[in-house]
Amino acid sequence: MTLIRNAIVGGQRVSVRMSSMITAMAPDLTPLPDEAVIDAAGTYLLPGLHDHHLHFFALAAQRRSLDCGPQAVTAAGTLQALLNDAPGAGWLRGIHYHESVAGPLYAAQLDAWISHRPVRIQHRSGKVWMLNTAAMRAVCIDEYKALEGVECDANGEPTGRLFRMDAWLGERIDALEELDIGGLSRHLTRLGITGITDASYTNNAAQQQQLKQLCNSGAIQQKLYVMGDGSVSAGPRKIMLDEDALPPFDQLVTDLRLAHEQDRGAAFHCVSHLELVFVLAALDEAGLHPQDRIEHGGMITQEMIARLAEMNLPVITQPGFITVRGEQYREALSRSELIDLYRYRSLLQAGIQVIASSDAPYGPVDPWQVAAAAQLRLDAQGVCIGKVERVSASDALSGYFRWPHDLSLPPRQTAVGSPADLCLSHIAPEAYTEHVARLGASVLQCPTKAGVSAENAEESPICATFIDGKPVYVRADLDGAGQNEILGKKNAAEATFL
Ligand SMILES: [Zn+2]
Repeated sequence: MTLIRNAIVGGQRVSVRMSSMITAMAPDLTPLPDEAVIDAAGTYLLPGLHDHHLHFFALAAQRRSLDCGPQAVTAAGTLQALLNDAPGAGWLRGIHYHESVAGPLYAAQLDAWISHRPVRIQHRSGKVWMLNTAAMRAVCIDEYKALEGVECDANGEPTGRLFRMDAWLGERIDALEELDIGGLSRHLTRLGITGITDASYTNNAAQQQQLKQLCNSGAIQQKLYVMGDGSVSAGPRKIMLDEDALPPFDQLVTDLRLAHEQDRGAAFHCVSHLELVFVLAALDEAGLHPQDRIEHGGMITQEMIARLAEMNLPVITQPGFITVRGEQYREALSRSELIDLYRYRSLLQAGIQVIASSDAPYGPVDPWQVAAAAQLRLDAQGVCIGKVERVSASDALSGYFRWPHDLSLPPRQTAVGSPADLCLSHIAPEAYTEHVARLGASVLQCPTKAGVSAENAEESPICATFIDGKPVYVRADLDGAGQNEILGKKNAAEATFL
């Protein structure tokens, strides 16, 4: 049992007792013997935040990557320092490299900088990985010289450059060993995130099993809701659409009918107008399921707003894209397209349920940053995109309080009988709106940089997070020294997998 005292819920100062559920709530409760007590010091006790669209493994990979591109490093010396200063002893993974940093990269050059641990750096085009000798040895490159993609010099020796060999490299390097799954999960607790929906279309039964094991072992502490292909046993069927290569219409309708027969909704990756038109036509044909949902809704015209409202389809949007991709959008899109871009307020006004989420690692993962982006709609240059689509940060945060398996249910509450997945915040969501309005663009961190250095968890208003009633994060300044380390992983037997 854990007791939180001096927390603010609904404007009242209360004590909250919890096991995996909230069991008691009163103005003051006396601690029981052996009960862990946390003094909330007048902070706000909120339901834990659930991110309804992110990609866990891709986010873990990004966190482990060093930004070796021109935005982060501008000369060979700083790149060398970046590589040598990286903590740990295993593989190093760099991304975004461009020749403007230090010219073309080969193993010999990399070895001169760092030779004691395997290093691979990806070119920002995504086409080529550059390995040092330790890395080449680790993947036994000598046995694979004949493979197309392994570049060799005049003497037939590999140069360290591997072209279009991502899948092969992935098989050779144990991806999980390289990823700091537990570290990512802990990072999410620092943002108040107690649940996530993994929206990767590549999820299949094996991937689901892997995620489940990571939850059961306690490496992933959050409650996990997984969508994926037809082999995934629960959660919406993820339908990936690409307007340049749409699936046969009849095939999509058949897939939808099958998912609906299994009592599964469908989650449509839908960023363009054409993709949305295609999806709505397929749903007209196949019929609707209450858990059908539109992911992104990147382009929604006025006519489509009415249709979405009619069909009662929720839109899982990512306001953070305005911050990180705004400049690209302004360059690539016409004036009228910018009006339809990642709409929010006009959808709400039409009665459509809109849920803000991160789509991390492609957008910023911090819910408070996402909410600020929804309120400000500023790109990295400070230009406002779609002013009329702005919503308050607290409206954007409210989506994070929804239940993952049924977005139409009333939001989760801090009340007796509710799951004890909770967080303490210095700022109430309503007051956060004011906070964002006051600080303006300065509240938006630069979220484009990859890697651990971009994590500014201390900026988050979250000061403690609880999953199944156990403190999984307590900020040192909340309750004096020492609290920070009472945490550890939750008991494996109590891990929950939705
Ligand atoms: Zn996504």
